[in-house]
Amino acid sequence: MFYEELAERFGSPLYVYDLDRVEAARRDLFSALPEAVDLFYAIKANPHPQVAAALSGGEGRRCRAEISSTGELSTALSCGFLAHECLYTGPGKTAVELHDVMGRGVRLFSVESPGDLHRIGKVACEHGLVADCLLRINSATASASTSIRMTGKPTQFGLDSETLPEVIDQLCSVPGTRVIGAHFFPLSNAKDEESLVAEFQGTIAVAARLREELGLDLRMVDIGGGFAAPYAAPGERPVYGKLAEQLAEALDRHLPGWRRREPLITCESGRHLVGSAGVFLCSVVNVKESRGSTFVVVDAGINAFGGMSGLGRLLPVCVEVDPNEADAERMVPVSLVGPLCTPGDLLGRRVMLPPPQPGDLLTIPNAGAYGLSASLVSFLGRPAPVEVAVRSGQVISASQVELHRSWTELSPGPAPAGAADR
Ligand SMILES: *Cc1c(COP(=O)(O)O)cnc(C)c1O
Repeated sequence: MFYEELAERFGSPLYVYDLDRVEAARRDLFSALPEAVDLFYAIKANPHPQVAAALSGGEGRRCRAEISSTGELSTALSCGFLAHECLYTGPGKTAVELHDVMGRGVRLFSVESPGDLHRIGKVACEHGLVADCLLRINSATASASTSIRMTGKPTQFGLDSETLPEVIDQLCSVPGTRVIGAHFFPLSNAKDEESLVAEFQGTIAVAARLREELGLDLRMVDIGGGFAAPYAAPGERPVYGKLAEQLAEALDRHLPGWRRREPLITCESGRHLVGSAGVFLCSVVNVKESRGSTFVVVDAGINAFGGMSGLGRLLPVCVEVDPNEADAERMVPVSLVGPLCTPGDLLGRRVMLPPPQPGDLLTIPNAGAYGLSASLVSFLGRPAPVEVAVRSGQVISASQVELHRSWTELSPGPAPAGAADR
């Protein structure tokens, strides 16, 4: 009912973010972590200003921001995160962006390669400062199972752990930088608490080994994330009942001193903090049959939601069905497709729905993370969906991302030397 009212008021497609749920996820995750552990919010999961602000401010323990672009820094700063508490990550930091973010107070960087470290150092020297750097480690081994794995194989992320002995001295003597620890991000969306804990235990042991074997100074260790959340399917955010104790045990064993924040231990999360706080509403425009299959065409596809599915990562999008209508015998399998002129605009295959009609409002649950910002918003020029933030059932903000429908002309500048000869 509530969603129908909102769709009537603000139109379809529509995102609804429940800030009470964002705050609950933040509270729950902080209480699932030991007291001395800090938490970064990965802004890329959902940069909506109200959502991000619900993680940076208010009562209780606050998140710091993990950012990876000048735009994300602007978002973070406007939402109450502090520049000197941000962690800046990414395998392709350019000198231009490093100038920008250092100029705005960012001091902590995750380093993905020797070249990256040298660029950070060069820009830091130009600013007359020393940047704090965490070496992002791409461990040779990997333990847990997950849908997205980023270490243990060749990757653009991090420094291969087996090559560190050869390069560590060089890495620790780059002017303008001070290596203060390590950053790990071995997995995303761990399948259960056990694999999450196992990955953290492995990571903590590797960090301790880096200190012993390479003499790496560990003032800070970012042990990464992997906190899970359902995505575009029904389900609840997992609760991690044993994590705090098991994490503390591993830290006591390998990195004693962590309770005094020597080293400071940090974790990261995107989807777990915001995923369950959002729903995506869209409307059926047309229903058609083609060679025995039913296609339900909705008013928003990968331009507004699940854009990553268009990039080859097909997602199991589900539609939340009113329990009164969820009569198994009446449900029909459909292909849920968006309005874009590409066969890639597929939200889900064999999505189960009661017989759909044009005009039906569909609710895609658990759509608070990697929704609009991970979509192909400018592709085919449709307006972005309105995003509504609610708190205690009241709308507190409604906004729409502004797209550049016009092109800003820049000066073409002088002709390149030799252009006349061509
Ligand atoms: C994307 C990202 C995250 C967030 O991942 P989730 O699966 O959304 O928790 C955290 N840290 C880094 C370095 C990332 O790139």
